[in-house]
Amino acid sequence: MTSDPRTDELASNLEGVRQRVRAAALAADRDPDEVALIVVTKFFPAEDVARLVDLGVTDVGENRHQEASGKAAECAARDVRPRWHFIGGIQSNKAAAVAEYADVVESVDRAKVLRGLVNGVERAERDPLDVLIQVSLDPPDADHRFGVAPDGLAELASIAAESPHVRLRGLMAVAPNGEDPSVAFTRLADIRGEFLGANPDADILSAGMSGDLEQAIAHGATHVRVGSAILGSRPPLG
Ligand SMILES: *Cc1c(COP(=O)(O)O)cnc(C)c1O
Repeated sequence: MTSDPRTDELASNLEGVRQRVRAAALAADRDPDEVALIVVTKFFPAEDVARLVDLGVTDVGENRHQEASGKAAECAARDVRPRWHFIGGIQSNKAAAVAEYADVVESVDRAKVLRGLVNGVERAERDPLDVLIQVSLDPPDADHRFGVAPDGLAELASIAAESPHVRLRGLMAVAPNGEDPSVAFTRLADIRGEFLGANPDADILSAGMSGDLEQAIAHGATHVRVGSAILGSRPPLG
């Protein structure tokens, strides 16, 4: 226990999620150390990121550029330096700016965004940026609002391979609303199997959130992105 009730709350939630991850990995005959936790801090202040880092969290996720860039700057000023994962939709004209603070961009879903990130890395003269391609698990006839359809993966992978400024590390996905996550993640495991055949080093699979991390781990997730189960429920979008 500490003298700060919020830190105690985060510590206890974090422990609960770590136990869920561990149990899910063991149930799937996997090594629990193969599954990394990204704590999604969107809507919560830099103060909470600082508390989480004190509690041993190494990776945090954000989904809106404005909020993420401000929070990353605020944290850096306090010498709080987690790895920042950008997990939200990116406007292509903002991609270069995201490359200034993100350590990993998980939501690459079209060529324009990828090219914007490459330009941003070049401009910032920073180390290569780790990227994941977000693959859509929506039915083939849906309009893929977030994520590229599986048949678009190869083209994005080949664009990434042309640049020394990005390193393609794997795939990210979100289970569609209203579908059984086990069914969606079974599809994802197939897509990933084919993708790994062509890109054997890009072996990260970021899938699973507060409500479906067990199903994601059962289907091969190497990274889970957990927000509300650790930070509490978010204020409704205004
Ligand atoms: C918000 C968000 C999460 C975390 O969701 P929770 O249900 O709060 O755990 C994970 N992934 C993405 C892409 C998100 O936008």
